[in-house]
Amino acid sequence: MFWKLLASKSQRPKGSAGSLPKGSEKTVALLTAFFQRPEHQWIRHNRLLQNRIVELLIKLPHEDLITFIEAKKAVLAYSDGKWSCTFSRTNNESVILIFPNLFRLFLSAEFPQAQAILAHEIGHILLGHNEFRKSEMELQLEADAYAMGLGYGQELLYALQEFPATKELLRRAEKLSDR
Ligand SMILES: [Zn+2]
Repeated sequence: MFWKLLASKSQRPKGSAGSLPKGSEKTVALLTAFFQRPEHQWIRHNRLLQNRIVELLIKLPHEDLITFIEAKKAVLAYSDGKWSCTFSRTNNESVILIFPNLFRLFLSAEFPQAQAILAHEIGHILLGHNEFRKSEMELQLEADAYAMGLGYGQELLYALQEFPATKELLRRAEKLSDR
């Protein structure tokens, strides 16, 4: 199923007779390893959810995908609570918690907003936010910028509108609507 999504990616060169874009074999291997982790059984069992996560992951620049899966040892864990958050485990794994609201959003018609939120969390991991301290606001803005770079600016803005309008949130919304 990965290759189907990959093959539909727009940057496929014209005239390549149904073959996968360059570098995609490595992508398939990375994604296969990622979803085969025992922690990801809950995702594997939900084809729609898995497809929507794959759709986001294949938008990451190839180097980022390698870093996210291999160096950062990313794990998407289902958890009770609200929306999502990111932290590091002592065994160098980077864990993104997916809470029931985000899980439901992934399976809804508004799933691009769920992808936008996950893109933001992936941004935190790739930007090394677990490893050094900046102000909380800077961290949020940087992670937002990462999601924006993947084309999720508008969707993230929609998603943020569901949260209480704190000062931090308004500042983030302002940045997201900048360009
Ligand atoms: Zn954040």
